[in-house]
Amino acid sequence: MARILVVEDEEDIAMMLADDLRLEGHVLEVVGDGASAAVRGREDGWDLIVLDVMLPIKDGFEVCRELRKSGVRTPIILLTAKSHEADKIMGLDLGADDYVTKPFNPRELRARVRALLRRAEGDAGARLRFGDIEIDPARCEVHAGGRLVDMTPMEFKLLLVFARNRGHVLSRDKLIDLAWGRDTYITDRAVDAHIVNLRRKIEPNATEPRHIVSVRGMGYRFDE
Ligand code: CA
Repeated sequence: MARILVVEDEEDIAMMLADDLRLEGHVLEVVGDGASAAVRGREDGWDLIVLDVMLPIKDGFEVCRELRKSGVRTPIILLTAKSHEADKIMGLDLGADDYVTKPFNPRELRARVRALLRRAEGDAGARLRFGDIEIDPARCEVHAGGRLVDMTPMEFKLLLVFARNRGHVLSRDKLIDLAWGRDTYITDRAVDAHIVNLRRKIEPNATEPRHIVSVRGMGYRFDE
């Protein structure tokens, strides 16, 4: 089961898409214009975005470009109305992962969705390396300086969130959403305490952190 954002302004197509993907067991949300898509797409938890190109306010290309620029790595399938080769290439250049040409066969779209979700799952399990830190999401293990680090599940999750959003400043609210979950109540102080512990475990020198960096008044950023 995946969380999928469908961006489509034509109601009958949107409804057909949504019904179809819900039958596959996915959780869906539909938005009908490019501006809403650029906002909702940036919010977390999507496993996939199905994005129509011809949209009111902002077209799908623009939405795709904006999402990638702001660091969103969610797989995107573009729905291109035209069968022009240039459109497909442009979409892929802008960071889309795949495209389906309208009018599309629902079976084909389902197959593409499955393929992309499988690929993303594979990527999610791939090891991440930063300096002397190695994170193995599949085994839930972290090595720092060649040694296995003893971590709580929460610390591991937090580190993974940092690693997957490297280079981007994350506010404490954002960290809570991503690591603990949107509906969790936890204080900023508790977040800071976890970060102190995490630094102690993975930083070569916890008093001068080079990976989990504080950004004054904003939050934290993970640097490689
Ligand atoms: Ca459209």
